[in-house]
Amino acid sequence: MTILDGKNLAAKIRGEVAVKTAAYAAEGKRQPCLAVILVGEDPASQIYVRNKHNDCVTTGIKSLMNTLSAETTEEELLSLIDRLNDDDSVDGILVQLPLPRHLNETKVTERIRADKDVDAFSAYNVGKITLGRDAFKPCTPYGVMRLLEEYNIDVKGKECVVVGRSNIVGKPMALLLLAAGGTVTVCHTKTADLSFHTRRADILIAAAGRADLITGDMVKEGAVIVDVGMNRKDGVLCGDVDYAACAEKASYITPVPGGVGPMTRAMLLENTITAYNNHLK
Ligand code: NAP
Repeated sequence: MTILDGKNLAAKIRGEVAVKTAAYAAEGKRQPCLAVILVGEDPASQIYVRNKHNDCVTTGIKSLMNTLSAETTEEELLSLIDRLNDDDSVDGILVQLPLPRHLNETKVTERIRADKDVDAFSAYNVGKITLGRDAFKPCTPYGVMRLLEEYNIDVKGKECVVVGRSNIVGKPMALLLLAAGGTVTVCHTKTADLSFHTRRADILIAAAGRADLITGDMVKEGAVIVDVGMNRKDGVLCGDVDYAACAEKASYITPVPGGVGPMTRAMLLENTITAYNNHLK
């Protein structure tokens, strides 16, 4: 069994991004820039945003932090996004979710210009991925694909089972696996017999947000198991997969932490660099 080491690969990707930004500076080009908007004081969101800021700073990407009060109106937030959309020195814009309840997440994320939508949550970006066209890929599924690629895990012709159908993880994950030639099944809470599907999987992606949902008897011998879940069990971070039991049967498996999480952050940097290069063209 091989551990899919997302922490290590993410560090390698950050190193590659830092080399690129140093080269841009040496060529006299402007610095790539990511604008992050945080509304309110959700403690988890504050940590995520701080991590994104630190990732930018350590890789030579300019980080433009916009911290707004929880009372910010939709009009104020949309007008900030408009200003960042019009600012030619800004390459990527990310609004940290969830937003306070009085703000419409769909309206807000759709306001980000497609060429700056580095989180790739907009209908336009997801539509392009669905059509198999070149587009920003949502960071978590993109990170999973990059991890599989790094370990030379070929998706072509494989039975891929995704547990979860959310717009930010499950659905785009299924689309990227399909584009890579996998035969894809998507499971959710209405799936009649979850283990029937998971046991067939050559590549199993668990993205349900339920601790220990995937037990050892639910996976096939030799399966590749990717655990996207981030849950708290007795205060300790864990995934959706019973790691000890599933690792005994898996050929490859991601740990939690140290698997998909760091890859998600690294892919945001990659998308920002892609946006930057598109803007320089
Ligand atoms: P979400 O919006 O709550 O979606 C969860 C999905 O899982 C839903 O489609 C739900 O089905 C399905 N599901 C829940 N319980 C299930 C069960 N018992 N059997 C089968 N399907 C089940 O969550 P999300 O945003 O996609 O995130 C999923 C997990 O990934 C969370 O733990 C989240 O924290 C984590 N995450 C991690 C990263 C990372 O970087 N590592 C990034 C994003 C998210 P229905 O549609 O039928 O309700």
